[in-house]
Amino acid sequence: MNAERIGIAGLGLIGGSLALSLKGKPGAPEIWGYDRRKETVRLAREGGVLARACTEAEIATCDIVVVCVPVIRSVDLICRIGKRMRPGTVLTDVGSVKSEIVSAGQKSVASGAEFVGGHPIAGTENSGYAAADPFLFRGRTSVVTPSAKNSESALRRVEALWRRTGARVLRMDPETHDHVFAYVSHLPHAVAYALVHSVATLDSRVPLGYSAGGFRDFTRIASSNPEMWKDIVLQNRDEILRATEHYRRNFAQLEGLIRRGDAKGLLGYFRRAKRTRDRL
Ligand code: NAP
Repeated sequence: MNAERIGIAGLGLIGGSLALSLKGKPGAPEIWGYDRRKETVRLAREGGVLARACTEAEIATCDIVVVCVPVIRSVDLICRIGKRMRPGTVLTDVGSVKSEIVSAGQKSVASGAEFVGGHPIAGTENSGYAAADPFLFRGRTSVVTPSAKNSESALRRVEALWRRTGARVLRMDPETHDHVFAYVSHLPHAVAYALVHSVATLDSRVPLGYSAGGFRDFTRIASSNPEMWKDIVLQNRDEILRATEHYRRNFAQLEGLIRRGDAKGLLGYFRRAKRTRDRL
């Protein structure tokens, strides 16, 4: 049997890394790629990762199509590609927010084809094909978000794809995914942006050149792509607002302890946080 043909729509950091990580392995799939940015397609072709640079319409002829564009664009692209997919094929994605995408994918995919949501938990603060890395997914977790409409075989085909990249796979329903990632990913990014923003808007100048490990470590993710994070925050708005509200209550509790000079309370607060962090 011929290896499956994989189509990757969007050849930026995640799509480019997926193509690079699948390339050249024994029994490697044939990879077709599509991106609206001509320069990206040129780079991917020169790097030899694509068997074919194709159009949006042509990519729907692949056995598995992975949509790797920003979440705000994913829904439209998934709907356009989904309705063209052939029976027995699988459309999947890598978006950082899942409920809306999975629901749109299920509704739009052609009869006999399936949509399976996915989200590799790997990335950097850089974006675009130039930042793509063949080892980005190695040792990381890729979440697959099944829904009632998915067959076991479609789920396994998507999971096998991620295992080929060196990732391990975890299943989680789309709603649980969006709740969990609001706390472990979206809230930390929001807090990091807010922290740096609060320094940027200070009346007095704080020379950041003096910043020690704390500021640098904590705020690395505030260098992430603002366009991407704007999209993620808007698409998971309700869950993120619940998470920021919970965070505000915890921060207010800390402020109260500091204001009252409550050494015992502060120690308990910091110790509980440290125990949780140390378990990571
Ligand atoms: P990226 O580096 O900006 O790459 C996205 C690529 O898709 C760009 O080349 C973009 O072109 C292209 N594109 C946009 N709309 C398109 C369309 N309608 N048709 C074809 N190509 C299109 O983004 P990324 O970091 O790889 O993120 C892609 C997805 O991965 C997002 O959904 C994100 O939530 C998810 N994700 C990201 C990370 C991370 O850390 N970066 C981690 C896990 C998951 P233009 O530049 O012209 O828009």
